[in-house]
Amino acid sequence: MSPARLWIPVLSGVLTVVLGVAAILGLEWMMADRRAPAVTTAQANVVVSAFEATAEFAAEVRRARGAFLEARSGWEADAAWIARWLEEDAAPEPQVPNPGGQALPGDDPYGRAFLDSIGATDVQVIFDAGAENCGYAGQEDGPGTLVVGGCYQTAYPDWLFVAWEPGIERLAWPLFVHEAMHWYQYRTYFPYLRAADRAGISESEYDAALERDASCRAVYLHGIDRSAYAGSSSPCDLDDWYDGWFVDQLIALGVRTSAPTSEEFEVSAVVRP
Ligand SMILES: [Zn+2]
Repeated sequence: MSPARLWIPVLSGVLTVVLGVAAILGLEWMMADRRAPAVTTAQANVVVSAFEATAEFAAEVRRARGAFLEARSGWEADAAWIARWLEEDAAPEPQVPNPGGQALPGDDPYGRAFLDSIGATDVQVIFDAGAENCGYAGQEDGPGTLVVGGCYQTAYPDWLFVAWEPGIERLAWPLFVHEAMHWYQYRTYFPYLRAADRAGISESEYDAALERDASCRAVYLHGIDRSAYAGSSSPCDLDDWYDGWFVDQLIALGVRTSAPTSEEFEVSAVVRP
């Protein structure tokens, strides 16, 4: 017999064995209890809570991402709004002439030299005692009272309102510098003030700090005697004012003072060893 012929019976023998084994396995498979392997309740709970934890984490990541995108688009929208605001050149119409006249006492009658020295080259003074001079208009003008008041309002980015009654000229310059400091504040801190608004922090929560900062800025950086503001609605009553003091007050209120980053909103996975 040649080896080639022997091949067939050997092969069929192997096939028989293989088929036999398959039949046994098939029988076992048919007879087997194929329900899910039994686990204890504790084991099942571990499995379920692992799934739940993963789902919770995924939901948290989605929430964080949504919050980040919202914060970022808010910040960008405010920056765009401020950029447009900076270009505005609305000029107020004179309403009621300043009873103190149309020039500041001293050798800088329109504050031009001072304004130029702080970079406020586009800023002008309007000597007006009308309703738009918010600091002057709201004051009580009774007998024995001399009124001095000013206003910086965002409706007129490049204008400072000042007015005073004759007899109180000594406060006109400090008032003017105080208003110029409000201009500086809005040039510098407006993104934070918009962020405060977005965070639901109202102006009433930081208004006193804004006023105090404007007067102290005038005292500490521009040589105004602090007595000029004593007893006013905007006293400089701090012995340790510094440039950045106002920003720190905003931060203490929870106001954002930098653009949102994705890191801030990152959710860290809970590691269960
Ligand atoms: Zn003020």
